[in-house]
Amino acid sequence: MLKADVHVHSDYSNDGVGSMRSYCERAVDLGLDIICFTDHVDSKKEIVRKNGRIDLKRYFDEIARLKDRYANKGLKVLTGIEVAEPYDDPRQLEELNSMPFDFILGSVHYYWYSMNPNVVLDRSLMRTARGWDVYWEEEIKLSECDGLDALAHLDYPKRFISERKIDYDALRTIFENIIKKGCAIEINTSFIRKGGGEPLPSEEILAYYAQMGGTMVTIGSDAHYVSELYVDVEYSMRYMPKELTAGYFENRKFYPL
Ligand SMILES: [Zn+2]
Ligand SMILES: [Zn+2]
Repeated sequence: MLKADVHVHSDYSNDGVGSMRSYCERAVDLGLDIICFTDHVDSKKEIVRKNGRIDLKRYFDEIARLKDRYANKGLKVLTGIEVAEPYDDPRQLEELNSMPFDFILGSVHYYWYSMNPNVVLDRSLMRTARGWDVYWEEEIKLSECDGLDALAHLDYPKRFISERKIDYDALRTIFENIIKKGCAIEINTSFIRKGGGEPLPSEEILAYYAQMGGTMVTIGSDAHYVSELYVDVEYSMRYMPKELTAGYFENRKFYPL
């Protein structure tokens, strides 16, 4: 089985620390076969204003250089992107789809924004119990988007809200929407290293995805520091029902690890 981390943030992300080069060096040290950079692109105007916009030309150029440099070290370097709330800027999602990405990962990050857009920076809202309902509504909108290869970190509010809520009705809709499009879900290991004891999403959600006929998963650390690369990726596979296949996207096509 190939060793891969396909959810990685370099310093091209507003909250990422570490150059792409330093991530690749670490990947070689860890014996990884594949690294896929998935730096942030936002869609809500206020968030773009706050976080800034990635220079995609530089991004593609740098990854192309690294692809060449690391090919003979046995490391495949892939060009991904993590686009948050793409339904809020469909034209941007279309543009991203016209570019030569290997992997487009869709996310809901700023779910609390729709509870009160005037307090976009008030993070206390993200911790309220109603956050779950708002979140699942946003995830349904995400699942309706065309042009995504995987949905990132389902049950993400677990990071902020101590009370869990798995909305199986919402999940049924989400999985029906994505499975027919060949869109995968992600097992995101970040919650394990933050002390949560399980990945995003939980074992129950992964089992439900398999039960609904889902097969494809990608696995990523969501590293924002070089030291977080590949952390808990192998460990998290124990949460994966045997019906599911872990893989990666290259040139927008799924390959098993
Ligand atoms: Zn994310
Ligand atoms: Zn991420």
